[in-house]
Amino acid sequence: MTPSRLTADSLSALRGTARRDALAGEAVTRLDPMYGPIVWAPRFNALEELIFTVLTQHTSDSNAEVAYKSLRKIFPTWMDVIEAGPAEIAQAIKHGGLANQKAPRIREILRIILERTGRLELEFLASMPLEEARAWLISLPGVGKKTTGIVLNFALGMPAMPVDTHIYRVARRLGLIGLKTNVDKAHDMMEIQIPPDEIFRYHTLLITHGRQVCKAQRPLCGECPMADLCAAKPVFDKAFQAEKYRRPVRAGQTL
Ligand code: SF4
Repeated sequence: MTPSRLTADSLSALRGTARRDALAGEAVTRLDPMYGPIVWAPRFNALEELIFTVLTQHTSDSNAEVAYKSLRKIFPTWMDVIEAGPAEIAQAIKHGGLANQKAPRIREILRIILERTGRLELEFLASMPLEEARAWLISLPGVGKKTTGIVLNFALGMPAMPVDTHIYRVARRLGLIGLKTNVDKAHDMMEIQIPPDEIFRYHTLLITHGRQVCKAQRPLCGECPMADLCAAKPVFDKAFQAEKYRRPVRAGQTL
């Protein structure tokens, strides 16, 4: 790991992409000692990761885990899911939320994969160029950039950057993306801020930081190793100071 070298003064001399790239590299350097070491290891194969990620949409990971385990227990093979009725699948995943929407989606995803490839696995994506693999997955129903990034990066080790709500929030606050950058664009920008083999680490460090320190409503800026470089910190300092002396100011709603 390279030693920390970016100061607020040296950052202020940078603009645009150079500034954001420098910040991204510095975030990895400074957050790794807090949350690392981060080692990539697949938790699922690619198809399992895809179905699990669909189950995480609009619910917590813990609810999705319960739903996923139930799905696999009731339908031991993916072909069993294809052959089941949507109501049976919905019953199996009821703890994951939005079961009536997710059940037909999961079945349709599996059906399309089988129809296109003759198999129920996605490991072949690893031999495709990144953009081709991403386009293949995004063509499936209900699959967007975040889900695609998770499957390609987590399961296949490809250099795709998934941006979830925590990462998006931290990135806006730090200045890794603009305040008006939308989530889709954030994926494109953040994926090239860091060397390809660092993307899993970058993702994991930022998501952990968002969950533990840079929280949505009340970030713990006093505990943050990026505080001297953070674009949002002065705003929070001001808001919390006002809150101390006057009335509540909900800084977290705007940043
Ligand atoms: S200084 Fe505060 S707002 Fe900025 S990244 Fe750290 S915790 Fe988040």
